[in-house]
Amino acid sequence: MSKATETVLEIDLKALEHNYRYLKSKLKPSTKFMGVVKAFGYGSDAVEISKKLVQLKVDYLAVAYVKEGVALREAGIEVPILVLHPQAVNFDVLLKCHLEPSLYSPKILKAFLQLVKEQHIKAYPIHLKFNTGLNRLGFLEQDVDDIVQHLKNNESVKVVSVFSHMAASEDAKEAPFTTAQIALFDKISNDIVERLGCKPLKHILNTSGILNFPEAQYDMVRSGIGLYGFGNNAKIDLELRPVATLKTIISQLHKIAPHESVGYNRDFKATGYSITATLPIGHADGIRRQYGNNKISVLVGGKKAPIIGNVCMDMIMIDVTGLDCNEGDEVIIFGNDPTAEEFAYAGNTISYELLTGISQRVKRKYINA
Ligand SMILES: *Cc1c(COP(=O)(O)O)cnc(C)c1O
Repeated sequence: MSKATETVLEIDLKALEHNYRYLKSKLKPSTKFMGVVKAFGYGSDAVEISKKLVQLKVDYLAVAYVKEGVALREAGIEVPILVLHPQAVNFDVLLKCHLEPSLYSPKILKAFLQLVKEQHIKAYPIHLKFNTGLNRLGFLEQDVDDIVQHLKNNESVKVVSVFSHMAASEDAKEAPFTTAQIALFDKISNDIVERLGCKPLKHILNTSGILNFPEAQYDMVRSGIGLYGFGNNAKIDLELRPVATLKTIISQLHKIAPHESVGYNRDFKATGYSITATLPIGHADGIRRQYGNNKISVLVGGKKAPIIGNVCMDMIMIDVTGLDCNEGDEVIIFGNDPTAEEFAYAGNTISYELLTGISQRVKRKYINA
């Protein structure tokens, strides 16, 4: 690790490799692995993360939208890519880039079948998504008849997978609900397979699913947050390594007299002589206003320094009174300590939101490639 000279999100590709191997160690060797790289690889960088995953022999990648898949193809990534939430308006581009759609409703299934038929395409890979309780996206069990009617002997497409998504795989008290989701998925997927006479991959587990319900790993799993170093569980987090470290530097130090204030609306008032440091990172970079006013500390020379006053668009101020530091010194916003999970918790949110919210303005830097 090198010292920061400006705000950077440092992406540790060795940590990614460690997490990938850790998650794989929880699975049977034959279970395929889909790396979820939506939302810029959970805020890190979809292309670099995908390249590393391809090097590690990942079987599949997943993105949310067509545009995200196009960016991967343009970067030369050739493994199969599942688009979790495509829209019909982008199907042309999806076909051109050979991205594989998740089809989740009778309406979108029909729109896709119509298009591939018009274009005389044969055996285009599709994935069928079923809603088993999340109530977000997916066919219902009662859609099976309709699906079978459209897909039986349809040579335009090939069902390469049937899948579902868990609502609360990280939540021990919802285990009975999760078990019921698995049972329903089992029933629906068996029914589809039997009636279509095909052999698609089945998959339902996300990261917490892998860790808590490995018996439901079927043919493939889909992991996102675990690859980036978080398992929605403090014990698992000790086994994983954070991929992203957000670093910045001290732009300026200020000596503040008692009763002077710092920042907009004067929300920080010094009670004694204080030293504050101004950092070149703000809410436009993804450190949102909820982290202001003493919610969390960052690290200066290994010592904790609380964020004081209101978070500005391009800056935050921290209290470094009593710390040995200078203008230009490195500051760790999150990484190993505090972790993104701990940082997010202080702002009443989760690592997923904090990581994906680090804006594109922040430079990405790769280490241990
Ligand atoms: C985002 C997503 C995942 C990955 O979930 P993690 O909890 O990050 O492992 C898997 N499947 C679907 C359908 C998703 O939307």
